[in-house]
Amino acid sequence: MRKLYLILCFMLPISAFAGQVTMQNVRIWAAPDNTRVVFDVSGRVEHKLELLSNPDRLVVDIKNAKMPQAIGQPVRADRYLNKVRSAERNKSDLRVVFDLKKNIEMRSFLLQPNRQYGHRLVIDLYDENKQDIATPLITQADNNRSKDVIIAVDAGHGGDDPGATGPHGVREKDVTLQIARNLVHLINQEYGMKAVLIREGDYFLSLRNRIGKAREHKADLFISIHADAFRDPRVKGSSVYILSNRGASSEAAKWLAERENAADLVGGVSLDDKDDVLASVLLDLSQTASLEASIGVADRVLYDLKKLGKTHKKYVQSAGFAVLKSPDIPSILVETAYISNPEEEKNLKNAAYQTKLAKALLSGLKGYFTDYAPEGTLLAAAATRKYVIVRGDTLSGIAQRYSVSMNTLRDSNRLKNDRIRVGQVLNIPTI
Ligand SMILES: [Zn+2]
Repeated sequence: MRKLYLILCFMLPISAFAGQVTMQNVRIWAAPDNTRVVFDVSGRVEHKLELLSNPDRLVVDIKNAKMPQAIGQPVRADRYLNKVRSAERNKSDLRVVFDLKKNIEMRSFLLQPNRQYGHRLVIDLYDENKQDIATPLITQADNNRSKDVIIAVDAGHGGDDPGATGPHGVREKDVTLQIARNLVHLINQEYGMKAVLIREGDYFLSLRNRIGKAREHKADLFISIHADAFRDPRVKGSSVYILSNRGASSEAAKWLAERENAADLVGGVSLDDKDDVLASVLLDLSQTASLEASIGVADRVLYDLKKLGKTHKKYVQSAGFAVLKSPDIPSILVETAYISNPEEEKNLKNAAYQTKLAKALLSGLKGYFTDYAPEGTLLAAAATRKYVIVRGDTLSGIAQRYSVSMNTLRDSNRLKNDRIRVGQVLNIPTI
C-alpha cells in the first residue's frame, strides 16, 4: 500500500529556474541522531519529497535537473539509509530514491552559495517525533552529591561546515575533532572529572544542539575547540575566548565571531523561538556567575597554553560567540592555533602535537577545578579536608573517625592498597 506522509514544494517564480540544473555531488553525513543529505547543485532547484512505505523509501523529485555521475552510497552504519539510486524522469526531471532502514521524519531547505559551496538542497532525516527537542534550561537539583566535574568538549564545525582550511588543505573540523577526542580521553583518566564529547564524528551540529547536549549532561563547563584563520599567513599562536555581552573586545575578535557564528546559518533554520525569551531572562540572572567562572577557567587554560609556545594574545579575549551563549554553563572557546599559518597547520595535523595541545588544555581545566571545584563534586570533597598520617594510624581507623567509607577514601587518594606511611597527606572527602 502506498502511504503518503508529506509533500514539500518550493513554489518559486519560473524565471528562477531557467535552464537545466546539474546535480554535481551528493554528500551524506551520518550523525548519531540524524542524517543530513546535501545535494550540490548548479543553481536553484524546485523539488518535491515523498515518503513511501513497503518498503520504506524517500523519493526526491527534482525538476529540470540531471545527474551526470553516479551517487556515492551511505555508510553501512547510517541509521536511516540503505541505498541511493537515481533515474531520469519525464525526460527533463531527476528522481533520486533513498531506501530507508525505518520510518523517519524529515525536513528540507535550499541554501544559497557561501564561501565554500554553491547552491545546495539539504534534506535532514531524523527519528519520528524527535526534531530539536528543546532541553529545559533549568536542570533538576542533583541529589547525588558525589559527582564528577563534567566537561563538555565541543569540536568546532563538522559535516558540511568544514570551518577554516589551511594552505595545504588541512581542515579545521578534522583537527578540532582529533584534539577534542584526545582531551576527552585525558579528562576521563582524571579522578573526579568526566568528559562528554559533544560532536562525535564528521557531521553538522547546530550551536543550539551543542549547548543542549552539554546541558543534558549537566556539564560544569563547555569548552569549544577551534583553529583560527587569518588572511596574513604569518599570524600565529593560540587564543582563548569568553563570551562578551557588550560586543567583541577587538576588531579581530568581532570578525572571528561573525565567521564562527555564520556556521549556524548552515542549518537554514531560524534559531528564534519561545525558549529565547526565557533564555534571556535567565541569562541576566545567572550570567554573572557563569561569566566569572568562564574567566577563571579561560585564564588557567591560557596560562597552560603559553607553555606550548607564544600565544596570539597575552590575555583572554572576549567576543560574541553564539556557541558560548549558555547562561548556566561557564563556557570558553579555544582557538588552538592558526591553521592559516603553514607551520601551525603542520602542527595541528600532527598526532603528537594534538596530544600536547590536549594536555595543555587538561592542565588548565584541572588547575581551575582543583581550586574552584563546584559544590557537591568529588573534587570539592577532596579539596576540603586533609589529614597527615601519624604513627599508629590505619586506613580503616581514619575512615571510621571521619565517617567515610574505605572505598571513598581509597578513591579520593588513588590508593592501590591500604598501606599508609607516617607523614603522608590524605584527602578526606566530606561526602
Ligand atoms: Zn572555528
